[in-house]
Amino acid sequence: MTTDRKQGFDTIAIHAGTAPDPATGARQVPIYQTTAYVFRDADHAAKLFNLQEVGYIYSRLTNPTVSALAARVAALEGGAGAICCSSGHAAQIMALFPLMGPGRNIIASTRLYGGTVTQFSQTIKRFGWSAKFVDFDDLAAIEAAIDADTRAVFCETIANPGGYITDLDAVAKVADKAGIPLIVDNTTATPYLCRPIEHGATLVVHSATKYLTGNGTVTGGVVVDSGTFDWSASDKFPSLSQPEPAYHGLTFHPTLGGMAFTFHSIAIGLRDLGMTMNPQGAHYTLMGIETLGLRMQRHVENAGKVAEWLEKHPKVAAVTYAGLPSSPYADRVPRITPKGAGALFTFALKGGYDACVKLIDSLKLFSHVANLGDTRSLVIHSASTTHRQLTPDQQIKAGAAPDVVRVSIGIEDVADIIADLEQALAQV
Ligand SMILES: *Cc1c(COP(=O)(O)O)cnc(C)c1O
Repeated sequence: MTTDRKQGFDTIAIHAGTAPDPATGARQVPIYQTTAYVFRDADHAAKLFNLQEVGYIYSRLTNPTVSALAARVAALEGGAGAICCSSGHAAQIMALFPLMGPGRNIIASTRLYGGTVTQFSQTIKRFGWSAKFVDFDDLAAIEAAIDADTRAVFCETIANPGGYITDLDAVAKVADKAGIPLIVDNTTATPYLCRPIEHGATLVVHSATKYLTGNGTVTGGVVVDSGTFDWSASDKFPSLSQPEPAYHGLTFHPTLGGMAFTFHSIAIGLRDLGMTMNPQGAHYTLMGIETLGLRMQRHVENAGKVAEWLEKHPKVAAVTYAGLPSSPYADRVPRITPKGAGALFTFALKGGYDACVKLIDSLKLFSHVANLGDTRSLVIHSASTTHRQLTPDQQIKAGAAPDVVRVSIGIEDVADIIADLEQALAQV
């Protein structure tokens, strides 16, 4: 019996991309710890290298464990294909690589993970690429910043560190009008809270290091392609739409249809940049994703309770959580992240910088780390760490002013999380 029934999120999270191992029947995805794969014969090898047949050649390109993860994340995001990478930052470069060239630019939100601001404002200049940073609540400013050399618009669904929600539909319309793709970093929302492709995104990037794995064991990244962008509609994306000399003249789009970006990223991106995910990391992330829905429910529930409690505390000046009715972003939650506003936000202390430092040093249950999206509650003072390389003006625009601390609320018992904050605030 066949059925067209669409599976739910948790079923996809557990089953997509995997089947019992054909060689052994192993139910769980084996860690294929191998570098290379034996060709059936010379003709088989030639076909694989010509992309005439899909199969495994060398683990810098593809590996069965890593491919299972790619298929699962693509299914969860509603994309056509995905590419796993060695880190979230690698995924960002891999997402841009097929689109960019010397002299090309991207339009990026001012509210981004600090490392991304540095990657975009400094490091990509070495490739001849550049980024213009714009307040993404100002749609006219995004439109005005786009020029003939712009090749992508980039933002985060729930922006790190403040937990601000981006109006993806509105931003996608601006990108669409200009004929360029919207790339959304969905790390802090995860596909459980938001599926950016349904809001008009062309590409979705993830730091799998965070909620996808969920327990702070892996460094990894994923790029998901919607498969719907018409790369041939203009001459802006020649690596995809014209004969590509780096792959014996293959024209990826429209030849490979909705898989053009994915195949390009494997055949050229992973082949030549080598930012490949390892099979062991992919295995941990597959395990983590099995419980993503359950974890995100609890993350959101706890974050809401902690944010409410903090907002009433006399030593707290402000809480940025978009799940609070007081947030200017609250009205975006039902539309963009209908299952909740995530578990990452900042709060400002009336005592300023010194109070933040005292608070962080007094917390016991919270771990003071440069990470987020762990089962454990985490805290960091962004201005002196993750957003340290930014100018004071960039820090304020990114929501990482010196008087705020960022928290990533874990899935412990919420009473224990609040009790820890209470004792630490008492010492401030
Ligand atoms: C952590 C993070 C990144 C970078 O990911 P890595 O896996 O650390 O390279 C990018 N974007 C966001 C939103 C992040 O939180």
